[in-house]
Amino acid sequence: MFSRRNFLRTGALAVAATAVSNPVKLFGQARRATASPKMELTFEPYDALLRYPFTIANFTRTTTPIVLTKITYDGYTGYGEAAMPPYLGENQASVIAFLRRVDLSRFKSPFEIEDIMTYLESVAINNTAAKASVDIALHDLVGKIMGQPWWKIWGFNPDTTPNTSFTIGLDTEEVVRQKTREASPYKVIKVKLGVDEATDKMMINTIRSVTNTPIAADANQGWKDKHYALEMIYWLKEHGVNMIEQPMPKLWLDEAAWVTERSPLPVIADESCQRLTDVPKLKGAFTGINIKLMKCTGMREAREMVSLAQALRMRLMVGCMTETSCAISAAAQLAPQMEWADLDGNLLITNDVYSGMKIVDGKITLNDKPGIGIVKI
Ligand code: MG
Repeated sequence: MFSRRNFLRTGALAVAATAVSNPVKLFGQARRATASPKMELTFEPYDALLRYPFTIANFTRTTTPIVLTKITYDGYTGYGEAAMPPYLGENQASVIAFLRRVDLSRFKSPFEIEDIMTYLESVAINNTAAKASVDIALHDLVGKIMGQPWWKIWGFNPDTTPNTSFTIGLDTEEVVRQKTREASPYKVIKVKLGVDEATDKMMINTIRSVTNTPIAADANQGWKDKHYALEMIYWLKEHGVNMIEQPMPKLWLDEAAWVTERSPLPVIADESCQRLTDVPKLKGAFTGINIKLMKCTGMREAREMVSLAQALRMRLMVGCMTETSCAISAAAQLAPQMEWADLDGNLLITNDVYSGMKIVDGKITLNDKPGIGIVKI
């Protein structure tokens, strides 16, 4: 039998034979070996300033803590980012502590994404945004070395990207009307619900007093009764809402299944769906899943979630945190496979540091730049 060891030995002999017959090549190889490039990971904290105070069911905030990462290798630079909304349990200190423990010198090249991401799991559990900040920088780097954007490397059709929704948070009627008018270039408005019936209906009615644009609703786990959730979903459908995200608490899968079975709208898991391993458990409980890079450790696992959800015949959405155009453009690489997209995080901050994926006439529009398609502003 042709054993691996024999194969390696034969291979080594073949290389040696080639080298002897071609001393110039041997010299070249030896030179490259001694000067082999190294990956260097650097990072810095960054506070994203919000255009509006952001309110969802449980709290309000005016900034989002971010850590910007950079991996350099052989003259190329890949950019990454960790964005940490407080409810995910990470912060700048935890991300920086994690990244300080990451030793990329044990890997030969950024093309070893599979091994590097497996290694990151061994550094510490959880820390998904910190891991995503490395994953995104690696993908940007590898794409730049290959000279291609990831949507192209993955074989996706850029014409099939969805419209992105533009999020309007809970606020007074006057502010909601103003935000709705500002959202006029967008083809879908996303509304955060889940406070109480009067507030939820006020939000929808206020938006409807300005526009008939389709609405995607997100209850952010705010409804605590399955019968009430179903009633609200019927009411929302009558008011031009076309999907509902995470109506009830993330662990209520039986209740979610009850609602999904009866719902006239697609019911999408967000908080219930963090990582690849969650996806099979959600089949039947939800119509589809909302994939976010900060929840699932980045582009590598997100790509796997896409395939798994498609195999399970679940519908797909891509979402984001409040992020710069770095993480947004990384997530946008997956957009051609998505039915819904909520990639407006960069538009909600006033101090973006990158330029990348653009929304043109409401639609996610991918560019031809290599990697994740961004340049520093
Ligand atoms: Mg959500």
